[in-house]
Amino acid sequence: MSYETRRTKLLEAVAHEEAALMVHDPKNVFYLTGFFSDPHERFMALFYHRAKGWALILPLLDVEAAKQKVETGIEVIGYGDHQSPEQVVTNWLSEANVTDIYIEELFISFARVKWLLAYRQEIQLHNLTPYLQRLRLVKTPEEISALMKAGETTDRVLEAALAQLKAGMTEIELAAELEYQGKKHGSEVMSFGTCVLYGAKSALPHGKPGQIKLEPGGLLLIDFGLVMDAYCSDMTRTFHLGEWGAEAQKIYDIVLQAETAALEAAKPGMTFEALDQIARDIIREAGYGDYFIHRLGHGMGIDVHEYPSVGAGNTETIEAGMVFTIEPGIYLPKLGGVRIEDAVYMTEQGAETLTSFPKDREHVLLAL
Ligand code: MN
Ligand code: MN
Repeated sequence: MSYETRRTKLLEAVAHEEAALMVHDPKNVFYLTGFFSDPHERFMALFYHRAKGWALILPLLDVEAAKQKVETGIEVIGYGDHQSPEQVVTNWLSEANVTDIYIEELFISFARVKWLLAYRQEIQLHNLTPYLQRLRLVKTPEEISALMKAGETTDRVLEAALAQLKAGMTEIELAAELEYQGKKHGSEVMSFGTCVLYGAKSALPHGKPGQIKLEPGGLLLIDFGLVMDAYCSDMTRTFHLGEWGAEAQKIYDIVLQAETAALEAAKPGMTFEALDQIARDIIREAGYGDYFIHRLGHGMGIDVHEYPSVGAGNTETIEAGMVFTIEPGIYLPKLGGVRIEDAVYMTEQGAETLTSFPKDREHVLLAL
């Protein structure tokens, strides 16, 4: 699907002829134009109004890069560091006599909402976020290919990093090895801060790797992902260093059973909350329900976490072409945690995983 088709679909979905659109999130600007830039604190947004068409307002230093990427139907307007982007935006809005504007309510800052109110106090603000989420929800075959490439690379990067694992290495050293191998395998950037957690720390679903040394006798949780051609991966494997302890082995088997059941059950037509429930029931019936402390998963694409949430309360149904993670876990405060995560893309027949690093109990036992 071309970028122009995406923009047309967005306008059709919003179906509000009088209104302007203001797309602020750089990932959404990329999705609609093919141009990605992180402007940091500077201002960048893609605008549309039927009187003026599409316009990308961005820092002068990005104008050349943008012109090389965006289609001719998009006007590229740069502003220098000595100029006020607010003035540039206000002029554009005034020329189109904008009375209504769609903004991304979860992304735009209060400061920039104030620009819009200063332009016209009675301006009507609407939320663009749900339309963009919906547009990005079902992936095209080209997007699935990019996600598959990121996933396959993730498997290879984990294998290459584990080949360097030695007793006495710290969590952060292993994280560095994963990120080094990511770059060596052609990834632009990691999709989030690499998570390597050993022992009791593995019970912290969002823990940060530190100076803890890897040694036989504990659980080692590795959660990482990378970006290739703008698309993300996200995979978790939990290993045991040295001989399994009885309870670590028990919770590993339960989590693997829960993940496998969800992978097998996922079908178009099923709700996201029903899928979450399948994994959750297995963990609850095994007696660890209180230790599965997060949703089953999340959508993934050009953002590592994107719409939808795979969890309780989401009654939306799964459709072919959607991509999301399945990542049940059990976290025991003293012993540590086990999480097993694969992202999947949905076909009419069921879920296909984007990552396939082995996860049977024998494979995740590392001798050191
Ligand atoms: Mn993850
Ligand atoms: Mn995840």
